[in-house]
Amino acid sequence: MHERADILVIGAGIAGSSAAAELAADASVILLEGESHPGYHATGRSAAFFAPAYGNSVVRGLTGVSEPFFRHPPPDFSETALLRPRDCLFIARPEQLPQLQSLQEENSALQWFSGEAAVQAQPLLSADYVAAALRDGHGGDLDVDAILQGYLRLLRRRGGRLLAREQVTALQRVAGCWQVQTERSSYRAPVVVNAAGAWVDSIAMLAGLAGVGISPMRRTAVLIDVPAGHDCSDWPMVVDVDEEFYFKPDAGQLLISPADETPSPACDAQPEELDVALAVDRFERATGVEVSRVNHRWAGLRSFAPDQTFVVGFDPRVPGFFWLAGQGGYGVQSAPAMAQLAASLITASAPASPFAGVMAYKEAVAPERLLD
Ligand SMILES: Cc1cc2nc3c(=O)[nH]c(=O)nc-3n(C[C@H](O)[C@H](O)[C@H](O)COP(=O)(O)OP(=O)(O)OC[C@H]3O[C@@H](n4cnc5c(N)ncnc54)[C@H](O)[C@@H]3O)c2cc1C
Repeated sequence: MHERADILVIGAGIAGSSAAAELAADASVILLEGESHPGYHATGRSAAFFAPAYGNSVVRGLTGVSEPFFRHPPPDFSETALLRPRDCLFIARPEQLPQLQSLQEENSALQWFSGEAAVQAQPLLSADYVAAALRDGHGGDLDVDAILQGYLRLLRRRGGRLLAREQVTALQRVAGCWQVQTERSSYRAPVVVNAAGAWVDSIAMLAGLAGVGISPMRRTAVLIDVPAGHDCSDWPMVVDVDEEFYFKPDAGQLLISPADETPSPACDAQPEELDVALAVDRFERATGVEVSRVNHRWAGLRSFAPDQTFVVGFDPRVPGFFWLAGQGGYGVQSAPAMAQLAASLITASAPASPFAGVMAYKEAVAPERLLD
């Protein structure tokens, strides 16, 4: 016997969970997750930052549409704040000044800082290292777990279900419905949402479709102690303008990343020694601080389409197969808008009023652009 729903969502990271919750307002939804708990892969491994100046214009647009949700979530969504303000400083060495200028031309809201002002804002930075910086005053720390749990609660309240340890192993279109096989059960629905993160192309292949060319890229992060005598709570995040590294306060420690983008198969990503060493080395060069110990290290996969833009929409090759993919390094900060866009396209309805702007991105994110 197949369990039936209007919509099956595959993957309970932030993308699948948020979309499932929005879809459940109008449809019966089952969210299938292969791991024992939601958020186990990319979503649980992010740097948890809201960076409105990050990414291409489509990414920035959908991040911008998401911002009011993070600042003023619906009542009952979460007991804790989803977004806590934190500045972001894009820094440049002397030879990187042209890149800093280009970044400012693209984002006129960014404020130019001299090297001295940058060191004043982030006292660990070495005055010999930073020539200038751009300040983004609209950034902040995201509470990723609160956002994920908020969407999962919303899904339950609307009658939807999350089923964990349900690894999808086969998909077949039979008599106008998708039959989805997991290791333990089978499900049936006219619409399937492919929100499987690094595995989206594999899910397409299970459905008999060629993938759209999503590349998972490994990124590493480590936690170190804050140097003695400092209170880091109000420090800005610091991002090298060429994205060679970044660091930010994280629950009383410092999170550093070498901003690596190493192609990887879809897997349970683990940090490589070399990337951990690079993170420490680049941080030490920018700050002059000697790192004696790494407290914790991890890696996750950021999954990109060839044009670094999200992939949202029905696959034109077969009925009822919907892509929600290619979230790259921006999947948390753009999730509210992406979920609304997905729900509007699937149910052919207008997005809720604060999200009206999402429809402007419909063509830019459509999967057609990636198919021959
Ligand atoms: C180090 C690092 C730092 C980052 N920093 C930020 C940041 O500061 N801000 C930001 O917005 N983003 C950031 N990101 C990116 C962000 O984490 C991702 O864009 C986002 O989490 C992607 O969400 P997702 O739901 O698409 O993927 P995932 O969270 O990977 O979820 C996909 C889910 O699908 C499930 N799945 C796969 N195959 C199957 C199957 N066959 N059956 C059932 N389930 C399946 C997986 O188990 C997984 O749970 C960062 C990422 C990394 C790695």
